[in-house]
Amino acid sequence: MDNPVIHILDEETVSHIAAGEVVERPASVVKELVENAIDAGASRIRIDIRSDRSEVRRIIVTDNGIGMSPDDAERAFRQHATSKIKTADDLGLIRTLGFRGEALASIAAISEVVLSTRRRDDIAGTEVHLSGGAITSVSECGTPPGTILEVSGLFFNTPARRKFQRTISTELAHIFDMVERTALSHPGVSFQLLHQEKEKFRTSGRGDLLDTIQSLFGADLSRRLIEVLPAPGGISISGFIAYPLVSQRGRSSVYLSVNGRQITSPSLARAIRDGFGESLPKGEYPFAVIDCRMDPEEVDVNVHPTKKEVRFSSERAVADTVRGAVRSALTTSGSFQVPEIRQ
Ligand code: ADP
Ligand code: MG
Repeated sequence: MDNPVIHILDEETVSHIAAGEVVERPASVVKELVENAIDAGASRIRIDIRSDRSEVRRIIVTDNGIGMSPDDAERAFRQHATSKIKTADDLGLIRTLGFRGEALASIAAISEVVLSTRRRDDIAGTEVHLSGGAITSVSECGTPPGTILEVSGLFFNTPARRKFQRTISTELAHIFDMVERTALSHPGVSFQLLHQEKEKFRTSGRGDLLDTIQSLFGADLSRRLIEVLPAPGGISISGFIAYPLVSQRGRSSVYLSVNGRQITSPSLARAIRDGFGESLPKGEYPFAVIDCRMDPEEVDVNVHPTKKEVRFSSERAVADTVRGAVRSALTTSGSFQVPEIRQ
């Protein structure tokens, strides 16, 4: 027998590698927990962040969604545990934000987690404690209907990843941006973001995008917004755009979603800018909150570990439609003037 050079990694190592793909930084934890709350049908989601001078210490996400049964509360942390798909066929038509059953397992593998959850009709709730992915206790508890997930000690057992965290202000900025993006793609859900117990913002959840933009960015910007109205066709574009208030050379404030899923897409961001054309000074980016609705079969969301990039069956057609929609919104509002931008 020769000496094999290939060996199979143990489960703990595998879970740390998987966690590394999903949980890049504290904001990734916030994204996954908030998306789970949305998938659970929550109408109110509260995100509570505690930090010290160097690190995010604690992330608590509270929702009023459907909650979990005692058995599911434990099962949710297993790798590939999901209630959202059953077979590979379901991958073609995903309507939830999650579907891989990886997030909770990944987060739990590299932190300390406390889950409290109750379904509306259950008399008692369930509290599950985990450390480094292993369940340390399960008990009955009193808790409001919905789910509370508390994550602390992030990256305590992955020193390499912990070392790569940026300054606390950068990590907090990523978290705030993440919650803003999610709130903009879900105006029908009320989001409350707190840092050190102080409210950063709160959206009404009334379903009105304009109202959400105003809660996040203030009245000054919302007065300058131009509405992008959906036009008939297979791809429907809607949202609001505006000339930038202040110069933000090279910094884009483009918020994009596809069928309610926030995404990043350099080609669609460029299409929005192209829609503004010459009316936007060189190097400047517009403000834009744009949602694209299309047949879910035309979008593949299963291409990126954090699902922030998607693939369109026709990228070109989507970009053309976006550019056209922006252009026609500007034309009908008669606002093709070159505005004054404060430096
Ligand atoms: P995924 O979202 O891809 O299904 P996760 O690891 O994020 O995988 O979650 C695993 C499962 O735990 C979900 O499919 C869902 O059934 C349950 N779950 C997670 N978060 C919540 C929540 N906030 N409310 C109710 N159920 C939840
Ligand atoms: Mg999920």
